[in-house]
Amino acid sequence: MSDSVRFYDPGENWSGVECSSCGADAEVWWGEAMARAFDNDFGNLDVKAPCCGRDISLNDLRYVWPAAFGRFALEALNPDIEETTAEQDDEMAECLGAPLWKIWVKI
Ligand SMILES: [Zn+2]
Repeated sequence: MSDSVRFYDPGENWSGVECSSCGADAEVWWGEAMARAFDNDFGNLDVKAPCCGRDISLNDLRYVWPAAFGRFALEALNPDIEETTAEQDDEMAECLGAPLWKIWVKI
């Protein structure tokens, strides 16, 4: 758990990011937008997408390989499994009382 929001990226699995409004490749402007949001401890994730001019949230962009913003993470290092089942994912979310996003990170 952390006091402030952080970005959970998939490490070497990073596969790019697309605008959630128009679908354009957002990677060209995403880094700068992330740096500005980071300077404010990710307290405001709203940006005007240069590709289409729409107001969107960095949290709503389409991360090609899953990534997410949050203050809590449950991590398993080298879990030695291919995948968790939807039932297992639901069970973990139910135990924690909050929705979970699964991010496979390659270090
Ligand atoms: Zn766009």
